[in-house]
Amino acid sequence: MASGNAIRGTRVGSGPMRWAERGEQAPRRSVRYWCANGHETEPSFASEVPIPETWDCPRCGLPAGQDQEHPPAKPRTEPYKTHLAYVKERRSDADGAAILAEALARLQQRRGG
Ligand SMILES: [Zn+2]
Repeated sequence: MASGNAIRGTRVGSGPMRWAERGEQAPRRSVRYWCANGHETEPSFASEVPIPETWDCPRCGLPAGQDQEHPPAKPRTEPYKTHLAYVKERRSDADGAAILAEALARLQQRRGG
């Protein structure tokens, strides 16, 4: 009696075979990445493509890593500015405005205004 049940339970083959065939048709795998802002993204890659270590977050552009607890640090694109740098920047802005005003004045003269 017990052996009959065991035989019925060993009907293997058809199920797993179907899955293997499907897997060959779409050899893709999705990888989850997290950025420093906590955004989660899950791009999928073809199985023959190596999985990149980091992925640019589609929401904020920061590099995202596969370790949710330790996402890549935010890149310091903007260096710390000293007070002098701010003053210089402001002055160059003023210069730019003056040049623009001068150009406009010349333009108006040329038009005969
Ligand atoms: Zn992000």
